[in-house]
Amino acid sequence: ATPTALLVGTGRGAQLGILIKGPEILERTRRVDTVVLDKTGTITQGRMALTDVLLPGAPPADAQTEPRTDAPAAGAQVAGARVDDARREALRLAAAVERQAEHPIGAAVVAAWDELAAAAPQVTGVGQDGVQIGSDEVYDFSAVAGRGVVGVVRTAHSGLQMGRRVLVGRPTWLAEQGVDTAALTDGFAAAEADGATAVMVAWDGRARATLVVRDPLKDTSRDAVDDLRALGLRPVLLTGDNEGAAQAVAREVGITEVVAQVLPEDKVDAVRRLQEQGRQVAMVGDGVNDAAALATADLGLAMGTGTDVAIEAADVTLVRGDLRSAAQAIRLSRRTLRIIQ
Ligand code: ADP
Ligand code: MG
Repeated sequence: ATPTALLVGTGRGAQLGILIKGPEILERTRRVDTVVLDKTGTITQGRMALTDVLLPGAPPADAQTEPRTDAPAAGAQVAGARVDDARREALRLAAAVERQAEHPIGAAVVAAWDELAAAAPQVTGVGQDGVQIGSDEVYDFSAVAGRGVVGVVRTAHSGLQMGRRVLVGRPTWLAEQGVDTAALTDGFAAAEADGATAVMVAWDGRARATLVVRDPLKDTSRDAVDDLRALGLRPVLLTGDNEGAAQAVAREVGITEVVAQVLPEDKVDAVRRLQEQGRQVAMVGDGVNDAAALATADLGLAMGTGTDVAIEAADVTLVRGDLRSAAQAIRLSRRTLRIIQ
């Protein structure tokens, strides 16, 4: 192949916001017949919003709703009042831990709590549950990829220091940590079946609330999947998220091949399995959890809006974070190679 034509191809790519690491990469796209698409941050905006906080045995309520100022004090025999306080506490503790993390789910939880805290009635720095505003401090934080986060939250509570080990994440992971999730499993399953993403927050060995988040599609994802199909490529959705959320997104963008609930370390295997079937795989992703799969794919494309790790692992960076650029990149390399031949 003429290096000059390849260089022209990469130059044209740069104009389109498609950064190709080396001219030789264009040749690799020749036989790509399958495009594996990460869900969160690739097809969806990766900006989740909290839509519900579900409690054991309580009906869903809008988490964004300000606690009723006319509600009886905490501890009163009115279910509604206890429910509001319990939601507040679950959200507050989850947000304290998630604030240390970098995950779209955590960002949604933190944003919801910050909004609630700003709107809630306060008496000189003490919240309605007796907690000193802004007094939560987190120790021993750790984030476990594809599972959740954990940390010890110390709170100044009516003069006392209370420390609680708070976990936020997948129920299966919480159960592995000895947490009893039984009281929340029905609501959790219902939220997932409805296409949402849900995590549980737990402390003192018991799951306390299910936090329900939703992540809107990017405007261009549907068109992008159409473009990829028009190029003769088979789109596959690959995600660590649950089957319900994965299927809901797949349906909306018109993908029928879905691999859900894949742990970060298993994304590579999912790509390999497709390769073993004789498929030439391009992978588009944005997360730390996508990096190994991007490197393993025959062609790795990273969203420029994604993590540095993903960008480093990929062959191509889609600067605009627009999935339509993936189709453009493949079209461009095919054209460039046609000129060369
Ligand atoms: P995706 O493949 O869609 O980008 P991830 O692999 O990042 O998803 O996450 C998969 C699952 O792991 C999430 O749906 C959630 O259940 C759990 N999880 C990961 N990080 C967190 C976190 N910071 N807080 C709560 N749950 C988390
Ligand atoms: Mg992602």
